[in-house]
Amino acid sequence: MSEMSTTIAARLEHVRRTIAEAAERAGRSTSGITLVAVSKTFDDDAVRAARDAGQVDFGESRAKALAARHDADPALGVRWHFVGRLQRNKVSLVAGTATLIHSVDSMRLAEAIATEARDHQRVQRVLVQVNAGEDPDKAGFSIDEAPTAIARIREIPGISVQGVMTIPALGADPRPAFVRLRTLRDELRESFPEIVHLSMGMSGDYELAVEEGATLVRLGTAIFGPRDG
Ligand SMILES: *Cc1c(COP(=O)(O)O)cnc(C)c1O
Repeated sequence: MSEMSTTIAARLEHVRRTIAEAAERAGRSTSGITLVAVSKTFDDDAVRAARDAGQVDFGESRAKALAARHDADPALGVRWHFVGRLQRNKVSLVAGTATLIHSVDSMRLAEAIATEARDHQRVQRVLVQVNAGEDPDKAGFSIDEAPTAIARIREIPGISVQGVMTIPALGADPRPAFVRLRTLRDELRESFPEIVHLSMGMSGDYELAVEEGATLVRLGTAIFGPRDG
């Protein structure tokens, strides 16, 4: 094993242990928590090292990068998640390739994804992005508009809304945003039982997110190390 592989394997082990400890504090089982390794900006060797250390779910935040990584090795045996801002003219690169699109932030994007999926006789699994931290720089529906938007999106054939995702405001305490997102998910689930997922938590705040109920955490630097740019 190269030094890089050893380091990535050790970081993954540390992250998994940290998730398990946070889950235990919250009285949760780790079986309901999926670690998504966000490989954006890191090279293919890093992805392979993580895969060899047992990592199955990977994320990319750019459509071209996700398509290129998937097409380079469709048999790698990993699942690709799309976590970034998706432009409508890039939907064809992502729909069908991504196991889950975490970042549906407008009705028009939902329509575009659904159209692409229907063209290929597929149903695309998505999460709806919610700006739970009320950050003017962040995409997503507000907490107030999310229930109506989600009720409409889930009626569109070709798309299946499985939960909600948030990116908390930079520099603010993320916990209140995580609590708001969980509360929203709990309310939605009463009407729509398929809305189960809470995608929240990044390298700096995933312990809190797990304590507050995250079912998907999206980690880059905690697994792959510092990003150059
Ligand atoms: C880059 C990115 C992550 C991972 O960020 P880290 O701080 O490196 O863990 C998670 N979610 C989204 C949407 C991202 O763009």
